[in-house]
Amino acid sequence: MTQAGLPALVVTHLPDVRYLSGFTGSSAALAITRRAARLFTDGRYTAQAAEEVKSAKTQIVSSSPSVNAVQWLAAQPGVRFTSFDPAWTSVAELGRWRAALPTHLRRTFLSALAAPLVEPLRMVKDEDELAIMIEAALVGCSLFEHILTVMHPGMEEIEIAAELEHRARLMGAEGMSFDTIVASGPRSALPHGHATRARLPVRGFLTLDFGVILNGYCSDMTRTVHFGAPKAIERNAYQSVLEAQEAGVAAVGAGVKCADVDEAARSVLRKAGLADAFSHSTGHGVGLEIHESPRVGAGQPNRLLPGMVITIEPGIYLPGKFGIRIEDMVAVTRNGGQVLTPAPKALIEL
Ligand code: ZN
Ligand code: ZN
Repeated sequence: MTQAGLPALVVTHLPDVRYLSGFTGSSAALAITRRAARLFTDGRYTAQAAEEVKSAKTQIVSSSPSVNAVQWLAAQPGVRFTSFDPAWTSVAELGRWRAALPTHLRRTFLSALAAPLVEPLRMVKDEDELAIMIEAALVGCSLFEHILTVMHPGMEEIEIAAELEHRARLMGAEGMSFDTIVASGPRSALPHGHATRARLPVRGFLTLDFGVILNGYCSDMTRTVHFGAPKAIERNAYQSVLEAQEAGVAAVGAGVKCADVDEAARSVLRKAGLADAFSHSTGHGVGLEIHESPRVGAGQPNRLLPGMVITIEPGIYLPGKFGIRIEDMVAVTRNGGQVLTPAPKALIEL
């Protein structure tokens, strides 16, 4: 805030609140000046806030935490205006904040940040965060190894999802990072095919994309396996995706542009004649949220920094036929990338 010349900030996006204060409840706003910080939450969280929040005073309120935060900031000496993140502030909420201010402050007190302030901090993980994410990723890997021993043709996709999720909870996960994707046969051509009652085929691909939440941090991995013997065209397509994925991982390193990592993966699929079938970005940052900065996509100019954790997940989707995606989590290090999800990637035939 000092560097950006900002006297005050109101933070309402809960992952940002958690990152800055440690508070994990579902209703809160954080008010920060250069001298003090105060967390506003409601009566359900009195004990929890006292336990979790060390870096800010806590105030329990019976009306909107964010309105109270803005009013508190307006009452602080020397605070002429406060910044907020427009990406996480609805028009309705901004209206409520304005209406709660004294008339003479309504036009001048609230100022949208020109660039996000907390997001760049969250992009780079410290050692404690990395340790948690390594553990979360390894839970994902052992779930994959387990499910390989369970899956067989005729099972429903949701049975696979249920088994993964049950096992994840037993391994200590607080939940899944997102709705588990189990897409079998022609459904594997849906990049986000959530598990349905469809039955696993005797012959065909199956894509599993899933992650667990451990201590608030998400893991994310994808593997595609094949039931029965693949045809040559399926085997070749798998090989191309695997080469693209490995080229993407190999391109990761401190100082490398996100666009160049995307291009490393994309160019492999282009050469294989599969450019049009690769319909999404190569990857994304992951942390307290399953999708966060940076975006690893075409034209993204940001450069990778040591401590960032990103996914590398090229895929191809041939509607009505099949789809293939392979995804690892990779931590950016000074001299390259450390794969956090070392589960097997060579084509598995079940
Ligand atoms: Zn994923
Ligand atoms: Zn992902």
